[in-house]
Amino acid sequence: MSLFERHRAVIPDWVALYYRSPIEITHGEGRRVWDADGNRYLDFFGGILTTMTAHALPEVTRAVTEQAGRILHSSTLYLNRPMVELAERIAALSGIPDARVFFTASGTEANDTALLLATAHRRSPQVLAMRNSYHGRSFSAVGITGNRAWSPTGLSPLQTLYVHGGVRTRGPFAGLSDAEFIAACVADLEDLLGHTREVAALIAEPVQGVGGFTSPPDGLYAAFREVLDRHGVLWISDEVQTGWGRTGDHFWGWQAHAGNGPPDILTFAKGIGNGMSVGGVVARAEIMNGLDANSISTFGGSPITMAAGLANLSHLLENDLQGNARRVGGLLIERLRAIAATVPAVREVRGRGLMIGVELVRPGTDEAHPEAAAAVLEAAREGGLLIGKGGGHDTSVLRIAPPLSLTVAEAEEGAEILAGALRRA
Ligand code: PMP
Repeated sequence: MSLFERHRAVIPDWVALYYRSPIEITHGEGRRVWDADGNRYLDFFGGILTTMTAHALPEVTRAVTEQAGRILHSSTLYLNRPMVELAERIAALSGIPDARVFFTASGTEANDTALLLATAHRRSPQVLAMRNSYHGRSFSAVGITGNRAWSPTGLSPLQTLYVHGGVRTRGPFAGLSDAEFIAACVADLEDLLGHTREVAALIAEPVQGVGGFTSPPDGLYAAFREVLDRHGVLWISDEVQTGWGRTGDHFWGWQAHAGNGPPDILTFAKGIGNGMSVGGVVARAEIMNGLDANSISTFGGSPITMAAGLANLSHLLENDLQGNARRVGGLLIERLRAIAATVPAVREVRGRGLMIGVELVRPGTDEAHPEAAAAVLEAAREGGLLIGKGGGHDTSVLRIAPPLSLTVAEAEEGAEILAGALRRA
């Protein structure tokens, strides 16, 4: 039996695999990965943004190996030097005053913890989330996920209402100008708050990740904040995809929305461990310390993942990879826009830094084109390029999120391969 057949026989059907003939990645270096058949790929998806800086970054490998040579254990019951050090650095970077940091092993758990904190702080189980959102796969995280394709149950224990503002290609607010769209979404939010019991929090991704790298027009989140502050509703920024400089101009996604101040609660995961499982929550002490019982996370903050996080973060900052994301991402967006102008199926190339979406439609319409997205993914792979896809119920947005150390030459090479794949599909 092939590995694919063995996978199918033992792993749940709902664990999605890319490609008609899925690949087994065996090793990587820089922005390249190799599969078990010896094929080499340029990696424009970083394992869904988990490889933040580069594959096989020597500093991370060294830090992990050294820690593994000392001891492999995990417990928040004992003092843990790398955990305290990484927490200090993240607290200082977060922009949140009097910040406390709690580490988890995934983004799902980070959002779960954020919900625990917000609902306890506000003594209300009512939360707001954005349409088309994705926040994870636990029982509560699927309950704040407005993307049906990734929300396998409607039986969440949370009370959630979904707010307009995520997607505007289709639906009642399609075709409005930015100012009209913001005014309509704010009026909708005010109306919702007027008809709802006390709300604990609104959770939002600064750029919707799984939802297709789409973000609301500048000014929407600031306008939402103004309304929510008046009602005492907390703002949770899910930075699982947008954190650590990925958006180029800013270190956090929340900063990329003009007029939007620091969130009350910030969640992170994915890239900070460069492939090791690091997630976490940052909040003001007043919110973070509001739980009235003990809580621990056995694997959250384990010394080996913290060692990886510290080495990775140092590399990111010392080499200004945020600046690199801005420069190389800017060039890549320009290049992709030039290519898109010649491909009728491309509706839009959008993005910030190295978080770039290419939305595909049936030519001449605004209709999603999932078959084209699947075909481009396959063709890119044949050309030696790995990309992702996403975007609402009909997955028709190509997602590009390479390691932040991407070079100009690699950006050019990837754009060439993608151009060929788009023209063929
Ligand atoms: N939030 C966002 C915005 C995400 O993109 C993801 C993962 N795709 C998660 C939360 C969940 O993270 P994890 O898969 O580590 O649980």
